[in-house]
Amino acid sequence: MSGSELLEEDLLGRHRAVLPNWLALYYSEPIEIVRAKGRHVTDSTGATYLDFFAGILTNAIGYDVEEISDAVRAQLDTGVLHTSTLYLIRKQVELAEQIAELSGIPDAKVFFTNSGTEANETALMLATQYRRSDQVLALRNSYHGRAFATIGITGNRGWSASSLSPVKVSYVHGGYRYRGPFSKFSDADYTAACVEDLRDVLQTSTSGDVAALIAEPIQGVGGFSVPPDGMLGAFKEVLDEHGILLISDEVQTGWGRTGEHFWGIQAHGVTPDIMTFAKGLGNGLAIGGVIARGDIMDCLGANSISTFGGNPISTAGAKATLDYLLAHDLQGNAAKLGDRLLTGLRELSTRYGVLGDVRGKGLMIGLEFVGPDGEPSPAAAGSVLEKTKELGLLVGKGGLHNNVIRLAPPMTLTDAEADEALGILGEAIAHTQEAGA
Ligand code: PLP
Repeated sequence: MSGSELLEEDLLGRHRAVLPNWLALYYSEPIEIVRAKGRHVTDSTGATYLDFFAGILTNAIGYDVEEISDAVRAQLDTGVLHTSTLYLIRKQVELAEQIAELSGIPDAKVFFTNSGTEANETALMLATQYRRSDQVLALRNSYHGRAFATIGITGNRGWSASSLSPVKVSYVHGGYRYRGPFSKFSDADYTAACVEDLRDVLQTSTSGDVAALIAEPIQGVGGFSVPPDGMLGAFKEVLDEHGILLISDEVQTGWGRTGEHFWGIQAHGVTPDIMTFAKGLGNGLAIGGVIARGDIMDCLGANSISTFGGNPISTAGAKATLDYLLAHDLQGNAAKLGDRLLTGLRELSTRYGVLGDVRGKGLMIGLEFVGPDGEPSPAAAGSVLEKTKELGLLVGKGGLHNNVIRLAPPMTLTDAEADEALGILGEAIAHTQEAGA
């Protein structure tokens, strides 16, 4: 379909007419992706792009991977897309065994959902039931999903609606570090200040009888903000004094994406009580879940079920994805390619003042854009988003001020593709700086 045919068809107008206003869309002229292979996607006008956001961190190992297609096709060929989770599902059991083992959580059990939101809702339900408390701690600037409890505890104001929360939430420091009261602190001083704040919030804003603290080891929607290694470990020492559970939201940081570890929380030298996951595991299929210590997972008295969570198709695809990730050491590739990108991007930041901060780990890299006065520049980030698309690169956007470009390509990225992206980003940033956006 040509660009003018697409315009004539007015898919965007039809989308706006029947889908919610609050459903976020990228680009002044949003694209429809109709084909994909490797790390490249093609839109309905025939334009091809290098996908540096992996969908939305969903396509962990890239597109059209034979092993995944074969696993899904084999399940389709049985005629059973899904019946019910009331029956045994072999791939669900196998996947749960593998994830429980990988989690490092003692006596771990896994519950499968269809999304990260559902995973976090379940984690909050388990924690509040287990602890018999409706009080929760979350990090400022966090994002945990879009259902009742998760949107309620989300700290990032662009995505939150805390007045709706069924749980009582108090926010602690340790999320967005580039700006804020402790931004100039060393790693050690930052961690100490955040721990002191945690103690203070517990004392001044809760009864002390709190169910859990939920944290993204690296904030995703919040702009790929990286806390000092060990910070959440220091938090856990305080939490343990009160019996408060630690929930690690690994929806973006799981499966080796951060390079140095399989789970983001491992950078903090601590094992959480509960972990949640989604996004990359299905490589495009809808699957999420919760991993919890057995006594926490089994604390619910009533029956519960997810009709579709852990269905045969999504667990077959997820199992094949996980096997592929491990067999090809994609965590190692994320570390190597992440370093290559960070080196190139830090070099760009010395040349272009508009690029205020380059941060990240592995293939989770944030570029924070600023104006001449150092203030956040959402316009500059918007300009880079549009210009990179024009040059054939898809990236993500986010951050508290919507001024952060987020890079999270499939973990199968090659050296040549990383260099191609660096070239395009350099051109887009130079264009943005010259345009004075
Ligand atoms: N938690 C984190 C850290 C996320 O980034 C997201 C989604 O972006 C979610 C939870 C919600 O996941 P989902 O959109 O699959 O419901």
